Amino acid sequence: MATILKLDNVSKLYGSLRALDGVTLSLPDNAYISLLGPSGSGKTTLLRVIAGFERQDGGGVLLAGESLDGVPAHRRNIGFVFQNFALFPHLSVARNISFGLENSEGTARPSAGVIAAKVRDIVALTGLGGLEERGVAQISGGQRQRVALARTLVTEPGLVLLDEPLGALDANLRTRMRDELRAIRERLGVTFLHVTGSETEALAMGDSLIVLDRGRIGQIDAPDTVYNRPASPAVARFLNCYNLFEGSLGEGAFVGPAGRFALDAAAAASKGGGPAYAVRHDRIEVRPPAAPAGADEVRIEGAFVASEYTGATQLSFFRLDDGRLVEVEAHLSHRSPAAYGADERYGLVWKRRDALVYA
Ligand code: ADP
Ligand code: MG
Repeated sequence: MATILKLDNVSKLYGSLRALDGVTLSLPDNAYISLLGPSGSGKTTLLRVIAGFERQDGGGVLLAGESLDGVPAHRRNIGFVFQNFALFPHLSVARNISFGLENSEGTARPSAGVIAAKVRDIVALTGLGGLEERGVAQISGGQRQRVALARTLVTEPGLVLLDEPLGALDANLRTRMRDELRAIRERLGVTFLHVTGSETEALAMGDSLIVLDRGRIGQIDAPDTVYNRPASPAVARFLNCYNLFEGSLGEGAFVGPAGRFALDAAAAASKGGGPAYAVRHDRIEVRPPAAPAGADEVRIEGAFVASEYTGATQLSFFRLDDGRLVEVEAHLSHRSPAAYGADERYGLVWKRRDALVYA
């Protein structure tokens, strides 16, 4: 697959803070890429460097094989959708969308007829038909989001950067807009680089997923690979679906304050970034305290604290003797939620082969 964007060892400093620390990556053409990282991990900084709003302190950025060194933001052919939409409040939907074309430089400026035709196409693509003459204060949040997108897409960028584009929307709308963004991108055939702090959004949207960890690349993989095999304890933590245990890796076992976890031969040969031991919330089974564990299982005990019923799943929290909480997720497709007794002890059991061990 052709590469649209390449970052080669890009660093960005704010004083002594390394906001980006040697970022190297390639984005394929015609793809939906999610960029996930906690707040402060450098996501916005990375987009701003790519867009040309900030200059990197080291390394290079190449678009379609051409270095962007010294190319100002407005000449990069890169679109940017801001988190807060950044619309012009006094302009209509149509004028917000046409603004970039009307104000493009000299010879690059299309005729009024061409601008009107482009706006018409993009209004149809983003589902804004009938709202052209409304002020942007007279439309809903989801519609404002579409105007922000339309305004960027109308300039036909070769790459579109979206900084937490769904962050300002309520939960229902957010889920619906995910599908729309994916559909719009597919019809255009350009690459979207979508920044989000939400692991569910990142996993749902990306053809591939980049995880940023304190200014460095934590992992680049298909979403299901990141989800099932996070490359480090830090990545596992951001995914918000793993219990992480500290301790040390010994002979055939991982030993820490929570107990001695016998290792599966395959799991023992796991990844770096530790030592840590990770087991996914939905890989833990809750058993009565007297029930034994099988030879291929690990068992610890905890006291029930609380449950949270979300409809499709039940999340339950158990406190171990050392005080830490373990989270268990049960999928309820054909079960009713379990009722656990407050402060009662239960066995928490998982398969050795389901554990991820970080050396
Ligand atoms: P994210 O978008 O992942 O939340 P940012 O890229 O905004 O993270 O910020 C990364 C780090 O750089 C943070 O520690 C932030 O405080 C710092 N930072 C961002 N912009 C500036 C700036 N203009 N001046 C100084 N520090 C900044
Ligand atoms: Mg940000």
